[in-house]
Amino acid sequence: MDLYDLDEDPTAAGEILRDVMSAPAARTAHTVSAVGHAHIDSAWLWPIRETVRKCGRTFANVAALGEQYPELVFACSQAQQWWWTKQNYPAVYERMKAQVAKGQLVPVGGMWVESDTNVTGGESLVRQLALGKRFFLDELGVETEDVWLPDCFGYSAAFPQLILLSGSRWFLTQKLSWNDTNKFPHHTFWWEGIDGSRVFTHFPPVDTYNARLTSAELAHAASNYAEMGFGSRSMAPFGYGDGGGGPTREMMERARRLADLDGSPKVVVESPSKFFEAAHAEYANAPVWSGELYLELHRGTLTSQVEIKQGNRRSENLMREAELWSTAALIAGRSAYPYDELEEIWRDILLVQFHDILPGSSIAMVNDEAIASCAASASKLEEIIERATVALCGRGSLPISFNAAPHGRDGVAALSAGAPVASSDVARVHDERVLENGRIRVELDSNGHIVSLIDRVADREVIPPGARGNVLQLHPDIPNKWPAWDIDPFYRNTKTDLSSPASIAVISSGPGEAAIRVEYLFGESRARQTLRLAAGGEALVVETEVDWHEHERLLKASFPIDVHADQSLSEIQFGHVQRPTHTNTSWENARFEFVAHRFVHVGEPGYGVAIVNDGIYGHDVGATPRAGGGRATLARLSILRSANFPDPRGENGRHRFRYAIVPGATVADAVRHGYHFNLPLRTAMAERAAEPLVALSNQAVVVEAVKAADDRSGDVVVRCYESLGGKATTTLKTSFPLRRAVVTDLLERQLAELQIEPGNQLTLYLRPFQVLTLRLSPEK
Ligand SMILES: [Zn+2]
Repeated sequence: MDLYDLDEDPTAAGEILRDVMSAPAARTAHTVSAVGHAHIDSAWLWPIRETVRKCGRTFANVAALGEQYPELVFACSQAQQWWWTKQNYPAVYERMKAQVAKGQLVPVGGMWVESDTNVTGGESLVRQLALGKRFFLDELGVETEDVWLPDCFGYSAAFPQLILLSGSRWFLTQKLSWNDTNKFPHHTFWWEGIDGSRVFTHFPPVDTYNARLTSAELAHAASNYAEMGFGSRSMAPFGYGDGGGGPTREMMERARRLADLDGSPKVVVESPSKFFEAAHAEYANAPVWSGELYLELHRGTLTSQVEIKQGNRRSENLMREAELWSTAALIAGRSAYPYDELEEIWRDILLVQFHDILPGSSIAMVNDEAIASCAASASKLEEIIERATVALCGRGSLPISFNAAPHGRDGVAALSAGAPVASSDVARVHDERVLENGRIRVELDSNGHIVSLIDRVADREVIPPGARGNVLQLHPDIPNKWPAWDIDPFYRNTKTDLSSPASIAVISSGPGEAAIRVEYLFGESRARQTLRLAAGGEALVVETEVDWHEHERLLKASFPIDVHADQSLSEIQFGHVQRPTHTNTSWENARFEFVAHRFVHVGEPGYGVAIVNDGIYGHDVGATPRAGGGRATLARLSILRSANFPDPRGENGRHRFRYAIVPGATVADAVRHGYHFNLPLRTAMAERAAEPLVALSNQAVVVEAVKAADDRSGDVVVRCYESLGGKATTTLKTSFPLRRAVVTDLLERQLAELQIEPGNQLTLYLRPFQVLTLRLSPEK
């Protein structure tokens, strides 16, 4: 800098540096595959409409930069953002297509948006991949090979199988570098899912998806790389991100100067696929990480903005019904299939699942739009369901119940419509505080808490001695850094049990239902809980209405359960995960808040209990001391938060929650109750019943979706999975004459042909947690 004189000859300084800058990197230097990128949050601290503009600006920048720097390779994810640009900036889109042809612009990710994978349901993840990949195939003729999720708040153990079944081979994120407790031990590894599928995975050791390609970043990447000595390369996504922008001339110049420089890692600008091919080739026997990729941070995003989460669950449930009954009506020849309508609603649902919308980490405007989008999807889907069920069964004088769940109930077979059979049991309230039916007896104390829950079938008390169940607990919830994102562990140090209710009242006392309502006043808020026991019911249902006016508080519902459980089971997409109830290691201790979908199950040999819900995700389950010796299990549901940033309204207002406790539940019972609780029977006055389109003989194999094939050929697509974690054989019988049956990938492309047996029947063999997609062609 002493010689760098702009008035005299600035090149004199360069002369001195020439030798230094031309000394090549060491033969063994780490290689950084630099991939241009612009992480564009599809909504976050700005609304969706601003994201559309961010896409236009960013992709115009990339087109201009590519003209100046032919070596630029830019990885562009999220089909949704390509779609927006196509609709809104056709000239920019044409330049993007030209860049794709030159290999400068590389579509990655294969998903519709970079979705959340904690809360997003199984079939939704399938459609994220199917719609995303198909967009790139149809528009660009490109089959993406990777799943690209640098910024989500943890990764479901169901995902490796889905990635492989979508026809992709690689997975990329780096978010686990944000862990607050444990450093993740690998950067290049095989990630193994619950079914045993393994996908080759890379976490860029540069620890950011917005790199600037500075010397400091590259030095950090090389020294941080955990597989040093086994592998020699890592990826660095570079370019301004979060709000978009992408790579700059300065970054491209740095990449040129650092390409082969003594003392620094080598830099090569190349595509993610080239990186993955090379990384795999040099380290095919990389270590294996089995199970979920739990992010030790942002645990509050399993609960924040609960209305969006409930709306998304409702959309997923209604979509299942809409597709099922529309397919049944199509195959019965009574109605056309609403392909366009359903695809449009799917796109709306998939957008809400973006990794800052569904987790509840966005501004108020985004939250309001997401809630409105879910409501609009629900009303469109209700209309489609109404049309399809009327087409299928007509209007008439028979009370017909439509059972969209994968298990039969009340005499109505799975996936069919028929006349329900009423239970001969009765449910009653005794002594103002005792709810009872033939299977369950529940006793409340004067606080409205459950002091006894007897499983009369197993003759067993579920509540541990001296403990109280279904207690609403209020915690301060003031995380140190990220309000909507985080629940910090010290929240547990302070809690208030809601007690001394303003009222306890018997709402109904048989014969069909026993119900007691308890109302609590606290702070500026009120909570009203209705405990319901139906005649013949296997579960105690709890409905909670909260008029919430708290700030920085967390509301939980607590269930001590008298089982000695070493593990808790939580439903995730297409199966479940097990997590220890103890905290022996720092890894277990850091999982003090985790996700479950429709159920958590805890048990000991011979006896278990499930808690099911229709829109709650945050849970904690741990061992707890038991009066009289031994230990019991404490399961808690996170119901409601009130973070003050980025949406300052703290979720104030009215909310409604439903959960149920199922005593004596096996894991199979938990799966069944989870579906039933989310898919209540839909009863209408109809003309006729309807057979199930497909009937499976083994209850362990669960049907997740029935739909018409996306190619509009009239084929029926059935997606099922093994739900218990063991191998399963099942027959599948169709109600229609079956001409051909094939196993397909998630894009409904053939993988294998199946042998059709007499009687329109197939025999299926499933691995533990295997997801199987079948394309069934009816005789025309
Ligand atoms: Zn993001």
